[in-house]
Amino acid sequence: MSKPKLAYYLAGGCGGCDIAVVDLSEALVDVALQLDIVFWAPTVADVKYKDLEAMPDGSIDVGLFSGNVRNSEHEHIAKVLRQKCKVLIAFGICASCGGIKGLVNLHTTEQLLEKAYINTFSTDNPEKILPQTTVVVDGKYELTLPTLMDARALDQVVKVDYYIGGCPPYHEHIAKAFTALLSGQLPPPGSWITMGKAVCEVCDRNPVLKGKPKKLATEVKRTIDGAPSEDGCLLEEGYLCLGPVTQGDCGAKCPSANIPCRGCGGPIPGVKDFGLRAISAIASMLDNEELVDKIPDPVHLFYRYTLPSSFLGKRIKR
Ligand code: SF4
Ligand code: SF4
Ligand code: SF4
Repeated sequence: MSKPKLAYYLAGGCGGCDIAVVDLSEALVDVALQLDIVFWAPTVADVKYKDLEAMPDGSIDVGLFSGNVRNSEHEHIAKVLRQKCKVLIAFGICASCGGIKGLVNLHTTEQLLEKAYINTFSTDNPEKILPQTTVVVDGKYELTLPTLMDARALDQVVKVDYYIGGCPPYHEHIAKAFTALLSGQLPPPGSWITMGKAVCEVCDRNPVLKGKPKKLATEVKRTIDGAPSEDGCLLEEGYLCLGPVTQGDCGAKCPSANIPCRGCGGPIPGVKDFGLRAISAIASMLDNEELVDKIPDPVHLFYRYTLPSSFLGKRIKR
């Protein structure tokens, strides 16, 4: 029997999701032996886009798409992969919701280019040259480069069959997802591949799991304001932990290291707008209204990983 064919593409991401797959360690060998990897660009295999484009439609069993859709090249490959793959998975929070790189939508492309290529302290660019979309090399070869766009989650471009959260996805969760894929035991199309529990539900700091009620926070703190206790609920202590609304497939890694959950696992099932639900959850855990004004940098706190897929989507200036 032929092995299932797998394609992997890194679009507007950092490569951390690729490294998370390598983090499977020895299990990676088992996974690799069970799959026929036909495309893994641009990080692992030197496969050309034209090779992918030439494959018959529907000939790839599973496509993993990591990173968000940030330029015309990502958009093109997203559409090609949708045609070629029977199952297309948004792999990691960038592909699923736009990710931390989706915060670019708070600025215009012009502002971002000016900041990156002209205004940084380390930039020496007196002629204010910005990246071009077409360049003629040696006076005869025209090189066309991708056009920047607002950041989008994959499902804002093509239909997505499944979502896997995490920045990057936790390697043990990836192993479970591959097992589900290879055995065909998948949830209904359109679902997240998740164990379906919030970070709070798997967190050793949760007083509710020890039969005690959760107390309201009487102050708002940041981790730079001092170390939290070793085992108390961070939210009770005033650290704005997003564990109540985040999928806990990582096993509550951050709270176990004294760091509030920042929401990279993606929204718990049934939540359409992570940021809105997070605002509601945190507000309900504060002792009084005055504390709301003390929440530092709410957009980056509540929409850190999900701005493009949220109802806000991007900053609009009129
Ligand atoms: S989800 Fe995180 S690790 Fe994966 S590509 Fe995006 S930023 Fe990198
Ligand atoms: S709010 Fe954070 S620290 Fe508290 S139980 Fe939930 S995940 Fe753990
Ligand atoms: S605790 Fe939250 S931020 Fe940390 S890895 Fe888990 S889901 Fe991501």
